[in-house]
Amino acid sequence: MKTFESFHAAFPDLQGCVISHPADIFYLTGFFCPDALLLFSADPVLVTDSRYSVAAKQVSCRVKVFGGSYITGAAEEAKAQGLKALGVQENSLTAGDYLTLSEQGFALSPVGGFFTHLRARKTKEEVEKIRAAQAVSDRAFQAFLPCIKPGMTEKQLRNKLETLLFDCGADALAFETIVASGSNGAKPHAVPSEKPVQAGEFITFDFGARVGQYDSDMTRTVALGDVSAEQTRIYNAVLEAHETAMAALAPGKTGKEIDRIARDVLEKYDLAQYFTHSLGHGVGIDIHEEPNLSFRNDRPLEEGSIVTIEPGVYIEGFCGVRIENMAVLTRNGYDDLTATDKKLIKIPY
Ligand code: ZN
Ligand code: ZN
Repeated sequence: MKTFESFHAAFPDLQGCVISHPADIFYLTGFFCPDALLLFSADPVLVTDSRYSVAAKQVSCRVKVFGGSYITGAAEEAKAQGLKALGVQENSLTAGDYLTLSEQGFALSPVGGFFTHLRARKTKEEVEKIRAAQAVSDRAFQAFLPCIKPGMTEKQLRNKLETLLFDCGADALAFETIVASGSNGAKPHAVPSEKPVQAGEFITFDFGARVGQYDSDMTRTVALGDVSAEQTRIYNAVLEAHETAMAALAPGKTGKEIDRIARDVLEKYDLAQYFTHSLGHGVGIDIHEEPNLSFRNDRPLEEGSIVTIEPGVYIEGFCGVRIENMAVLTRNGYDDLTATDKKLIKIPY
């Protein structure tokens, strides 16, 4: 398996690793299976059950179709290979599976984000898959805009947008669609409700298509009819924060620096206190992956990473605005993957 040498170089004391995070299993084997463990070693084995025995034929390594628990199957294989010291993914392996390995005498060490770091830099093929997933989202949104009518509920709008995502080529949704109107917009991760959308409100749509296991992620906030001067001021401030931060994207800058740039713009308009989450995140097989554009990330960004830029302002009892695009970091800067215009779209009332 292509990455075993680099794993061994990073963890010379370990003879293998139990991979439990589905996105990492897909990255390493080319097979997406939520019900499996991968024993990653010089002779890797995917342990799954009979439901996947036909589908697993596409896997690039040995497959063990096992009747018992996956961890027991992985432990059997590890013993057969004479492995004693194994890495584990502490963020996804269950405590029960950890105890099973421990009781069987394996020496276990956490490997942290080793595999997640590998996925942060996309290959050209991966970039094209994510670009294709984003193109589906852009097409669906263009088809969706004329469907927005006053009096529709947030749930009805969600249903329409999701249908269009599938009609435009999505294999699945990348995550649960957010539709948040009026004061609901102040909740960054609002769940669509029975609330009808009304004139004078902002409506925020955050959604994404998954195509071939790769995700896309975009947000647009639109105005239903005429909105107030204060709402327009907030929108334009978020847009300026978005555009300024995106223009600064380049390999070598840290997530912390880019996040700071957006915050500084909002500070100018006395709105920074309402920007309550980090600026962006990596997107790939997982909708949220490395690298993060956050004050916590001091690592330089790398060419080939795909990140979102999504500043927002959330004012309780009033409104919310978020604008989100995805971009791939290129040698000297970035390539914007999102085609939909960022200027405030006004839906006729
Ligand atoms: Zn989003
Ligand atoms: Zn996002």
